[in-house]
Amino acid sequence: MKIHEYQAKEILRQFGVVTPRGIPAFSVEEAVAAAEKLGGSLWVVKAQIHAGGRGKGGGVKLARSLAEVRELAGQILGMQLVTHQTGPQGQQVRRLLIEEGADIRKEYYLAVLTDRATQTVAVMASSEGGMDIEEVARTTPEKIIKVFVDPVQGIQDGQARELALGIGVPEASLAQAIDTFKRLYTCYMESDASLAEINPLILEGNGGIKALDAKFNFDSNALYRHPDILAFRDLDEEDPDEIEASKFDLSYVSLGGNIGCLVNGAGLAMATMDTIKLFGAEPANFLDVGGGATTEKVTEAFKIMLRNPRVKGILVNIFGGIMRCDTIASGVVAAARETHLAVPLVVRMKGTNEEIGKKILADSGLPIIAADTMAEAATKIVAAVQ
Ligand code: ADP
Ligand code: MG
Repeated sequence: MKIHEYQAKEILRQFGVVTPRGIPAFSVEEAVAAAEKLGGSLWVVKAQIHAGGRGKGGGVKLARSLAEVRELAGQILGMQLVTHQTGPQGQQVRRLLIEEGADIRKEYYLAVLTDRATQTVAVMASSEGGMDIEEVARTTPEKIIKVFVDPVQGIQDGQARELALGIGVPEASLAQAIDTFKRLYTCYMESDASLAEINPLILEGNGGIKALDAKFNFDSNALYRHPDILAFRDLDEEDPDEIEASKFDLSYVSLGGNIGCLVNGAGLAMATMDTIKLFGAEPANFLDVGGGATTEKVTEAFKIMLRNPRVKGILVNIFGGIMRCDTIASGVVAAARETHLAVPLVVRMKGTNEEIGKKILADSGLPIIAADTMAEAATKIVAAVQ
């Protein structure tokens, strides 16, 4: 799960990481009131969406008067903000963060993330902050410094020091930088994050170290331990089909292609998507109905896939283990009837009660295309949608 920058900064502050003072705003009036309350003479009006690159897209702007705060808040609120992370359709801005302007001497990058390859926690820092870190990784990878932290031992002073020296933090600010790195590590661990990123972390004119931006990803499986973080969830930022699917305990991810797939088991679902691609087409979604799918669940899964106007055909690929093929077949027939299915449907099933399942499909009178192997199923659905 992702959260907004202003929420991420609340969490950072709880762990003692210094951030600029700021107040969220949901309207132009609230934005002006927030700036008044913050005081000073320089504010930043920041679009709050669950995507980075807002600055480049015109979603982060400096204001030097309250009148300017009003004007910029009016421009940014409601805009369709397009960044390299939103896709071309962009994301509508519904919330703002009004923040005091910081005196930036230098922008650094800092992140803590799970490193699957080493089974440790990687802490990454770079002297090239503020910009797209993927770009830095591509063009000047030597400017990214990484240390790997044993989660049992936790981050060592020497490691934090190595990072701070490696990115060129000046002597006078070293102690605060080291302290900030350790605090971000603790924050990442205690909040069950899979990513905690500060880009930019700045060196201020007066030598202070401050988090100017903040991004978290949380491990959804651990959110039950963090009701306060779960309360930050913003459904406006999530894919409506994925929200609908989660209500029925279906693992669903929207993708860009035109073949809907309904599969049991995540591994088989991945293999099915690969097979569709191998045969020259693109999957419209990942959908794992799980081991205990009922007729109702299969029907809901069909409805969710068919809400996507790009779907021109559906491939059902089932391995009957604990799940029996006849149960899925009955579900598929019921779902096809209830949704008045108008796109081609290819079904491949193998395993427990396969013959009964195939008979249910054949006897249904529905124009279901049967297939025996994955290759045959993929060939048939790809031909049907073309
Ligand atoms: P994004 O990464 O989505 O573009 P950021 O929060 O990193 O958004 O803001 C982009 C840039 O705007 C930063 O790199 C920084 O230069 C500037 N900026 C952001 N917040 C402030 C602030 N409070 N004071 C001054 N400049 C800021
Ligand atoms: Mg940023």
